Amino acid sequence: MNNYQTVFLGLGGNLGNIQANLQQAVVLLQKAVGELITQSSIYQTRAWGRNEQPDFLNQVLCFKTQLPANELLTAIQTIETLLGRKREEHWGARTMDIDILFYGQECIHTPTLLVPHPYIAQRRFVLVPLVEIAGDWLHPQTQKSMRELLFECEDKLEVNYLAI
Ligand code: AMP
Repeated sequence: MNNYQTVFLGLGGNLGNIQANLQQAVVLLQKAVGELITQSSIYQTRAWGRNEQPDFLNQVLCFKTQLPANELLTAIQTIETLLGRKREEHWGARTMDIDILFYGQECIHTPTLLVPHPYIAQRRFVLVPLVEIAGDWLHPQTQKSMRELLFECEDKLEVNYLAI
């Protein structure tokens, strides 16, 4: 039996009923991945690098999982597909993106998986929810906390708390 790992997943979408999709993703991830430890608030973010797209909703979830990293990737891709199916008919685009941000303190470099996710330090829409739920968590490659990374981040994109 694999040891438990603390994993952080980044969720985002900008098409369809995003809040409903996020809720559905949380339910499906709890079944497939393991115990949900913490979930951040939902944040509204301008589409990074693409102004003509609708705003994104983003959220970060923390789980304890026994899945090895490659199985975790398969699980989240299955859930992306499940949640994507209904919107693909209408929009032809994905409405739910799920990224593995951290897999414990492990650094993984395979053709299909880069962990920690390479854009964490450059994206406020990931750092703001990470700081909300795990400000002291250390990035294994730089040993900087999420709070330090947010302080240093030069991304100017607005990330607004979404009052529900
Ligand atoms: P995207 O279209 O941005 O969701 O990228 C999906 C692809 O990124 C998949 O084929 C994964 O194999 C790859 N990938 C690499 N690293 C990660 C990661 N940390 N989390 C999720 N997908 C990843």
